[in-house]
Amino acid sequence: MKHTQALQGQIFELVTKASEELGTPSYVIGGFVRDYLLKRGAPKDIDIVVVGSGIALAKKLAQLLPEKPEVTVFKNFGTAMLKYNDIELEFVGARKESYHRNSRKPVVENGTLEDDQKRRDFTINTLALSLNANDFGKLLDPFDGLSDLDKKIIRTPLEPGITYSDDPLRMMRAIRFATQLDFKIQPASLQAISENKNRIQIISKERIVEELHKILACDKPSLGFALLHKTGLLPYILPELIALQGIEEIEGQRHKDNFWHTLEVVDNIAKTTDNLWLRWAALLHDIGKAPTKKFHKKIGWTFHAHEFVGSKMVYNLFKRLRMPLNEKMKYVQKMVLMSSRPQILSEDFVTDSAVRRLIFDAGDHVDDLMTLCEADITTKNSRKQKKYKENFKLVRQKIEEVEARDHIRNFQPPISGEEIMVTFDLKPSKEIGIIKDAIKEAILEGQIPNEYEAAKKFMLEKGKEIGL
Ligand code: ATP
Repeated sequence: MKHTQALQGQIFELVTKASEELGTPSYVIGGFVRDYLLKRGAPKDIDIVVVGSGIALAKKLAQLLPEKPEVTVFKNFGTAMLKYNDIELEFVGARKESYHRNSRKPVVENGTLEDDQKRRDFTINTLALSLNANDFGKLLDPFDGLSDLDKKIIRTPLEPGITYSDDPLRMMRAIRFATQLDFKIQPASLQAISENKNRIQIISKERIVEELHKILACDKPSLGFALLHKTGLLPYILPELIALQGIEEIEGQRHKDNFWHTLEVVDNIAKTTDNLWLRWAALLHDIGKAPTKKFHKKIGWTFHAHEFVGSKMVYNLFKRLRMPLNEKMKYVQKMVLMSSRPQILSEDFVTDSAVRRLIFDAGDHVDDLMTLCEADITTKNSRKQKKYKENFKLVRQKIEEVEARDHIRNFQPPISGEEIMVTFDLKPSKEIGIIKDAIKEAILEGQIPNEYEAAKKFMLEKGKEIGL
């Protein structure tokens, strides 16, 4: 069967022409073909393998295109890239690879199309479509990738032990593809990943994190984390999560397994938000529970201040994984630190002042915090589940009401430090801070409205009180 449908458009016609002129056959390969056969949305990029020079073909194609796009050449890799209508086309010469034990860098020689397909990670990624005039659109599938697509299986073209040991990043990729596509990893592959798990240590943190991001972006990220756990990779990557696993029982009192709970929370949040960093917060929201866990005879299990400890751990985790230590990290820290606040608040009668404090502390992220808390409801008791959901609905309503009235979200003090100094004829001093803080507290407590006149009156009274 020909798949000319996949290859419609001027760009493919011109690749065919360029290939013919150079006498180097070319094929579309990898993700583009896989996703076309799976009917998975529009392609992001197109990988083209050339039996000959990828760089020469890219340059030839650029000449033939009316737009004459720029060709970016990666000399070290023997590849070239050009952009066409926002799609990246990547060209690589067909190659044969052999690996050394301590590196992901293979020794590379020129090869046939099949040599090139053999070096690819999974059979579903070896699928190639011919761009050559004599058999345009023909599927070249020497490793039965099509049948694996059908059976929803992740399988390596070569012996799995060799594939994973050669390039251990493939272990993460296998798990990521299984999660993205909802495929099963073939048992022999799973076994090989478990056996090679310690080789993940030669992979750069950045690449590991890239795969973690992709797993977290899936519809059901728990599939990926469960596989990372099952294969033994997780302790190398996120030991903080593994530490949450297990249920302990003392004197008949048990606590929940916080690892599996966490995965449920991540799946829950994946249904309501695409915000990657909020998904990270869901993944890490309970990591402080392992180091803070204690058993007390009278009250049972406690995880005192786990949110605070957890938020500190976020920094170390991001640093270790070379993730950005910027506002994204601070956002995750804040979500972790505040992750129990709405719960505590909703257990009691929801007062306006408690809601004002929540909005003040969470700022612009108060909605995200509520989303996290809602995802955190994993009880199987339907009565409790309903009750918790209703409580949060109430908190959300209150947040809207209070915010509409008091504008706490991006709180700007109604009286500036400058005005306090002028009013009391003060030089910069701690009294200014005391008054500013007292005004803020009075607003949050609902003693005065968040308005200039009321705040000014309050300032004058406070000044008198402290003898100014
Ligand atoms: P996606 O874009 O969804 O990640 P993709 O399959 O296009 O999917 P890329 O990382 O762009 O993924 O890789 C393109 C192709 O290159 C893959 O389909 C695969 O054939 C090959 N490939 C990528 N990384 C590896 C690897 N580590 N080992 C072997 N082959 C690889």
